[in-house]
Amino acid sequence: MRILVTNDDGVYSPGVAALAEVACMLGDVHIVAPHVEMSSAGHAITAARPLTYKRTPIKGHEAYRVNGTPADCVALGTHVWQNVELVLSGINLGSNLGNSVWHSGTLAAAKQASLLGMRGIAFSTPATESEPDFEVLKPWVAQVLTLLASAPELSLVNVNLPATMPKGILWTRQSVRHYDGKVVPATDPMGRPHFWFTVTPIEETEEGTDRWAIERGYVSMTPLRLDLTDEDALESARTRHPIDKIVFG
Ligand code: MN
Repeated sequence: MRILVTNDDGVYSPGVAALAEVACMLGDVHIVAPHVEMSSAGHAITAARPLTYKRTPIKGHEAYRVNGTPADCVALGTHVWQNVELVLSGINLGSNLGNSVWHSGTLAAAKQASLLGMRGIAFSTPATESEPDFEVLKPWVAQVLTLLASAPELSLVNVNLPATMPKGILWTRQSVRHYDGKVVPATDPMGRPHFWFTVTPIEETEEGTDRWAIERGYVSMTPLRLDLTDEDALESARTRHPIDKIVFG
C-alpha cells in the first residue's frame, strides 16, 4: 500500500518523521509536506502561483518539501506519486479538538485526501514546553492504524493523543464548545496598535467528546464526514418553508 505522510508544521517537524516511521510498517511511505510551518492554514489551496517541490530525504524516508499548504501537498503529492490509498497527517505539535477542525491544516490535509477519494487520518498531540515523547506515542499510533485498518468504511478520522502515556483508546464525537472570539489590543515596540485573536471557552467539556477523552488521558478517535448538511434542518426547512409557495418578482 502506498501511504503519503504530510503535516502542517513543516517537513522538518519531528512529528512527521515519527508518523512516517510508524507508517512504514503498513506500506511504502513518501513524506510530502510544506517547506515552512502552515499551522492554522485550514483548507487553503494555492491557485494564484505555481507549486514546486524539492527532494529532501528525512531519516531514511523519501521526502519532499512543497511551497504550498497542507491541502496542496496532498493534491500535488498524490498527483506526482500515483495510487496512494492512505494519507496520514501529523503528528501535529498541538491538539486538534472540537472547533480546530475549521482552521487546522493537519485536518485539512486529511480532508483533502478524503475529497480526492483516499482515506485521510489526522494525528495531533498537545504542544508542551518539551518536545512530545514520540517513543511513547509511536506504539499507540501503530495501534490506532491497526484498528482503523480493520474499519475501511471510515474515510476520515481525527485522532488526538494525550501528552503523557495514554490510558487507552476511545471513539469520540467532535466537541463543539462555543466561545467568545475575543480580540485583545496591544501595541508593538514602535508604538503601533496591533491585535491578538484569542478564545475564551464558555462551556464545560461535553462527555464523550474528543476534548473529554484527551482531558482524561485517552487517545481520541473521531470519525468525521465531509457532508456538513444538517439533515434535520433541511427536512424542517422543506416542510416549513416550501419553495413552491414563494413567488419571485
Ligand atoms: Mn501544526
